[in-house]
Amino acid sequence: MKQIYFDHAATTPVDKKVLQEMMPYFNQNFGNASSIHSFGQEALLAVEKARMQVAKYFNANLNEIIFTSGATESNNLAIKGTDRAYFKKEKKKPHIITTTFEHHCVLETVKKMEKENLIEATFINPKKDGVIDVRDIKNAIKSNTILVSVMYVNNEIGTVQPISEIGRMIKSKNSEQGTGDKKIIFHTDATQAVAYFDCNVEKLGVDLMSMSAHKIYGPKGVGALYVKFGLDIAKIQDGGAQEFGLRAGTLNVPGIVGLGSAISMIRNQDSVNTKIRELRDYLVAKILKEIPDSRLNGSKIKRSPNNVNVNFSRVEGESLLMMLSAEGVFASTGSACSSGSLSPSHVLLSLGLKPEETHGSLRLTLGKNTTKKEIDYAVKAIKKSVEKLRKVSGNVLKDYYKNKS
Ligand code: PMP
Repeated sequence: MKQIYFDHAATTPVDKKVLQEMMPYFNQNFGNASSIHSFGQEALLAVEKARMQVAKYFNANLNEIIFTSGATESNNLAIKGTDRAYFKKEKKKPHIITTTFEHHCVLETVKKMEKENLIEATFINPKKDGVIDVRDIKNAIKSNTILVSVMYVNNEIGTVQPISEIGRMIKSKNSEQGTGDKKIIFHTDATQAVAYFDCNVEKLGVDLMSMSAHKIYGPKGVGALYVKFGLDIAKIQDGGAQEFGLRAGTLNVPGIVGLGSAISMIRNQDSVNTKIRELRDYLVAKILKEIPDSRLNGSKIKRSPNNVNVNFSRVEGESLLMMLSAEGVFASTGSACSSGSLSPSHVLLSLGLKPEETHGSLRLTLGKNTTKKEIDYAVKAIKKSVEKLRKVSGNVLKDYYKNKS
């Protein structure tokens, strides 16, 4: 049976070259990067090479890159670290602005801090097209706002947010307010943006930026946080003084080498993106043409080149996924982190969709090796499965929601 992988936003395979570069650091150059002897120094050199590779891609300095276990940790460190540093100085409740359609690791972090009475929080809704309006962020800023956290590219619908515009707006707010304690810090979760959009931290005007290696053909369990030089953020886990005292714990040397290697392999970003975008547009057009009652979730234009998120009315998304999997087409309904949960996607709800309108949604995310042939096969399988499901469960689903409303 064919195996067609359309879930690159969930994770990507480790590139062969990346794996090759990682291998020696498991059992040959296995030293602890904090050790003084030559094994340790060799590991440290490899870590510092990777730091250079990441810093170069972000246009940052070496001491602005903190290695973590992935974007979940980077986001936690960015948000909690900012709050802790502020609280140490101010001893009063700060205000954080984020959006309603962030990844759970941002959303749940902010919600929990709000529930624990540590912060005030404002959650901004995107517009119907899945894009945040900068004016909504601007209007939400209060005198005690310390942090704005807006994701660069949404992981479910792929919509791209106006990060540099928000960066400029915050910069001008900061200069109105003066500097020092009143400074608003700007964080973006760029996990789904790296390799597709410009991640130059200067141009974006961000103070903190998170990323993860496994979305860019690197290994799982490793990521980075860009922390602008001079920014006051506190560590959130106690232990050794690794990573400039901000992230305790023995460094994951092979993982970090893999991250550096994967990010340094992102070249000719524009032409690769053009190829993926053309395939993506072909896929969207084919689905919308061949499958009745289907529509694209989120903006068609302000969108990651690799993301398709379509809704099929009168279809249950989880059943569609299972049928597609049996046909060898691997996709998802939302983020991999929330699959298994049958509650409606918070991202699709944030666009103003009704719960019943969210259920028949399918996310297909393309990769650098996706082919037209794979797309043709997938659309055939989707069409067949949607028709089958509509026959079997369309009416049942309709009645179910009618009774619920
Ligand atoms: N943020 C976004 C936007 C993501 O897509 C993901 C991964 N699904 C994460 C954060 C979490 O990344 P990690 O798996 O590295 O913890």
